[in-house]
Amino acid sequence: MYNISKIREDFPILSRTVYGKPLVYLDNGATTQKPRCVVESITDEYYSVNANVHRGVHFLSQQATNLHEASRETVRKFINARGTNEIVFTRGTTESINLVVSTFADSQMQAGDEVIVSVMEHHSNIVSWQLQAARKGIVLKVIPMNDRGELLLDEYEKLFSPRTRIVSVTHVSNVLGTINPVDKLIEIAHAHNVPVLIDGAQSIPHLPVDVQALDADFYVFSGHKVYGPTGIGVLYGKEDWLDRLPPYQGGGEMIKNVSFEKTTFNELPFKFEAGTPDYIGSTALAKALDYVSAIGMENIEAYEHELTEYAMQHLKEIPGMRIFGEAERKSSVISFLVGNIHHFDMGTLLDRLGIAVRTGHHCAEPLMHRLGIEGTVRASFALYNTKEEIDVLAAGIERVARMFL
Ligand code: PLP
Repeated sequence: MYNISKIREDFPILSRTVYGKPLVYLDNGATTQKPRCVVESITDEYYSVNANVHRGVHFLSQQATNLHEASRETVRKFINARGTNEIVFTRGTTESINLVVSTFADSQMQAGDEVIVSVMEHHSNIVSWQLQAARKGIVLKVIPMNDRGELLLDEYEKLFSPRTRIVSVTHVSNVLGTINPVDKLIEIAHAHNVPVLIDGAQSIPHLPVDVQALDADFYVFSGHKVYGPTGIGVLYGKEDWLDRLPPYQGGGEMIKNVSFEKTTFNELPFKFEAGTPDYIGSTALAKALDYVSAIGMENIEAYEHELTEYAMQHLKEIPGMRIFGEAERKSSVISFLVGNIHHFDMGTLLDRLGIAVRTGHHCAEPLMHRLGIEGTVRASFALYNTKEEIDVLAAGIERVARMFL
């Protein structure tokens, strides 16, 4: 049973007001709110355990290390990786992507080699490749989409050449909500002997993910989008690939021995974790993953699917409504514009009604170019949103629209 009132009680912020109105928080694509257990984990660990991990002989250090490494196991289990050595803690999706892009380009790519991305990527999965393209002469090829916001698989296949070295695509679009058929994308890439990096920033909070079933070579996500704290994220990489890539940053923890003549590097995953890790964050992230696991990712997916269907149906009834992203498989993100109302005006006026949505290009400017617009209003739902909140959103949009008539 999906007990929505109990779930909402776990998130104290949801009962606050904004401008005297009950908060309707629909900006979950940007970041999610935190359940009590996550916030308490942070204070509890600082109050009672805090000590630097891995290098200490004393009790607290060992306790903090145990918590940190237990969190790695929680992440492993959550995405079904083979081993904890395949789980690297980073600062978030952006850092995970940059880690792979930079080390992969350095060790596996030459001038003229190609990376395939999609038209619906977040800037973090475009600009990081462009930095390498400028530095090394790497070429970006782009998978196009149809007007519903679905990637064109036939066109994707045609992009492969003997110079294709990697495919780097998002699992779920942060603008359109499209759930890309990453299993097929991976299968096709592997048929060409090409590895695949999946940006899971918008999928991990909404769908069950099994990296072995997908056969993803790299899978990345952020803690803060899945009810965890900011400043921590994950890079999953197949052991074989992580072994082949060089270290990303130099520092403590990532080395075995250091001399001025020669330095040897630590084993996985520590080779990629230079410096003091966010061990407080990793414990809190594990708490967040335990929290969603207890509800059940399948249950969350089904509940959010119902919310999204309900919202699509009601928003479409609003005169002048244009929705961007009507893929067959769609996650809980709805981007829209109404008549000629600027997205910024709509967002600002909804805010005065207590409704938090995001406006702008959503760090996906190439996608905006493809859609022929500058930006959208985006409502993105999480496990704690309700149909009543969607009614408030629909009424709010209609009210704003009437002001512009
Ligand atoms: N990729 C996608 C699809 C996203 O939606 C986001 C954030 O909105 C990111 C990457 C970047 O995530 P972060 O800012 O947590 O590194």
